[in-house]
Amino acid sequence: MPKASARYESGLVWFRRDLRVDDHAALYHALTSCAKVWCVFVFDREILDPLLAKKLIADRRVEFIRASVIELSAALADAGGAGSAGLIVRYGMAREIVPQLAAELGVAAVFANHDYEPDTIARDDAVGQALARSGRTLETFKDQVIFEKHEILTQGGSPYTVFTPYRNAWLKALTPFFVKPYPVLHHAAALAPIPKNIDHARLTLEAMGFAKTNLSDIDLPTGADGATRLFDEFCGRIDDYDRQRNFPGKKGPSYLSVHLRFGTISIRALARAAIDHTHQAPAGVARGAETWLSELIWRDFYFQILHHRPDIATGAAFKPEYDRIRWERGAPADRLFDAWCAGRTGYPLVDAAMTQINTTGYMHNRLRMVTASFLVKDLGIDWRRGERYFAERLNDFDLAANNGGWQWAASSGCDAQPYFRIFNPVTQSEKFDAGGSFIRRYLPGLAGLSNKAIHAPWLAGEDTLKAAGIVLGRDYPGPVVMHDAARRATLARYAVVKSAR
Ligand code: FAD
Repeated sequence: MPKASARYESGLVWFRRDLRVDDHAALYHALTSCAKVWCVFVFDREILDPLLAKKLIADRRVEFIRASVIELSAALADAGGAGSAGLIVRYGMAREIVPQLAAELGVAAVFANHDYEPDTIARDDAVGQALARSGRTLETFKDQVIFEKHEILTQGGSPYTVFTPYRNAWLKALTPFFVKPYPVLHHAAALAPIPKNIDHARLTLEAMGFAKTNLSDIDLPTGADGATRLFDEFCGRIDDYDRQRNFPGKKGPSYLSVHLRFGTISIRALARAAIDHTHQAPAGVARGAETWLSELIWRDFYFQILHHRPDIATGAAFKPEYDRIRWERGAPADRLFDAWCAGRTGYPLVDAAMTQINTTGYMHNRLRMVTASFLVKDLGIDWRRGERYFAERLNDFDLAANNGGWQWAASSGCDAQPYFRIFNPVTQSEKFDAGGSFIRRYLPGLAGLSNKAIHAPWLAGEDTLKAAGIVLGRDYPGPVVMHDAARRATLARYAVVKSAR
């Protein structure tokens, strides 16, 4: 039964990148402070229209969200019991729809979870102001990170810009309180049936201008159920994470990034499991869970960087002196960029990785580092072009992590690799895909090459290539640049940074 002591008669929960019922901060606060609660998800045209304008109609993320929203609606209906009808789904400008729906339903407050990207903060501010004009409030909560904004600062009160001390401070500040789940289901009786006059029809992809993708073929489970299945499977191999995570041919990482992106799993549940695992594992085995927890801390780290430096979202280098670098431009640079995007650089590991992102929307972390380094430090192309390409293609695209990763590779970021550290794409390949299994999976045309020859086909003799049925330039490109020369050019290009200090 709804609470007699509720602060508000009714409220509306606005779901965004938090598509689950379980352990959901805004939903919990709405259910515990309102007698009646409705829920809405808006397919926001402010986000979708730019994709349609670029003709990116087969977007796996839109399909992933739609499938997850359908599941969320069913989960809300289940949680609410008899008469509850789940989620109201709308399509349009969220900044207009949310205040309108709040008025239609006559709610006193809208509840949502914090977002940290400048555009979404501006949208939420606009919604908050529109609600305030009609006497309503927007209440927002921390949900997608463990620590946010100013919660972890140096002793001097400034934000950390180096990861290891941030991680140490994060671990020191962590108490069970920060990973405690919100007991949403205990309060689910406040979920109310959707009034008959409120339109909540299911939207098809086609109705929004999008097309079906290969999502079901790439074995990416959607929704909270899918996230739980992936996580349960990962828990069985978390102890090996530190040993396996760098080898793209092996099943090392969790593959949970898209679920973290859309909140189909709670970050608190993941951090709690990693911590429990660390405590329970026998000595020497705990490193897998410990290393994985560090990756979750990297995620918080980049979110807090974005909070303190929102200018990085509009292209500023974290270290301003790196904006003095002159990148390659014009038609030759465009051709190199196109070759990188298409996976036709002649460097098999780079090309296999680009094929992975193009065909699945995922790329292994080691390969994100290798391909980003190759674009910036072998091809001399502005990291922002690569950042944008990843933003369009990655299922797990997240502004904070993507910008952090690109600026790490370009050496312009906080705690980035030094500019003179330049990955050799061939030795990276020999080290992290020694048996060539990853390359063969994504570039089957090279499958006939030996484990030795597959990393740099142009160095294989003619007989070796012939035996593998490959003619360079016909079946597979020759290298678009030679690494040693590119390396020297990069050191010269980055000299402006040294002289600016
Ligand atoms: P796991 O190894 O299982 O890690 C677990 C989780 O930790 C990830 O799901 C992710 O949420 C977080 N995480 C891991 N590594 C990082 C990291 N370096 N920075 C921040 N969070 C991390 N990650 C994104 O989520 N979205 C992006 O858009 C993104 N772009 C990147 C671009 C570049 C150039 C680089 C180098 C890295 C990028 N990353 C990004 C970080 C990382 O590559 C992915 O999070 C990871 O590969 C996702 O796979 P997983 O879930 O199997 O990871």
